[in-house]
Amino acid sequence: MDGVKRSLTARGICRVCLCTEEDGCEGGCAWTDRGRTLCSACRDLSLLEELEIRRAAVDRLQTMRRLLRKEYAEVQRAIADVQRRLRFAHLEKIPNRKPPIQIEN
Ligand SMILES: [Zn+2]
Ligand SMILES: [Zn+2]
Repeated sequence: MDGVKRSLTARGICRVCLCTEEDGCEGGCAWTDRGRTLCSACRDLSLLEELEIRRAAVDRLQTMRRLLRKEYAEVQRAIADVQRRLRFAHLEKIPNRKPPIQIEN
């Protein structure tokens, strides 16, 4: 991949397929460099193959990002709901609160 700028060279993330130690390639892979930026599944690829695999990996991450955004909104809604219920539970514990009076005819 000489000559192509690698914007992502974080330690522990393959710079081609973006696999990590926790989430390796299908069938397993190992690091091929000290810096842990290239996994064995991506070692002998041509430049075009590298770029195509990288594009697919970025696509997957973008989909994941959209899903996580949705998940985040749902968790926030759930938290607000629980907080509302906790406030309500607190009101029920106010000692001077009396039950509705039954009107007898
Ligand atoms: Zn890889
Ligand atoms: Zn890998």
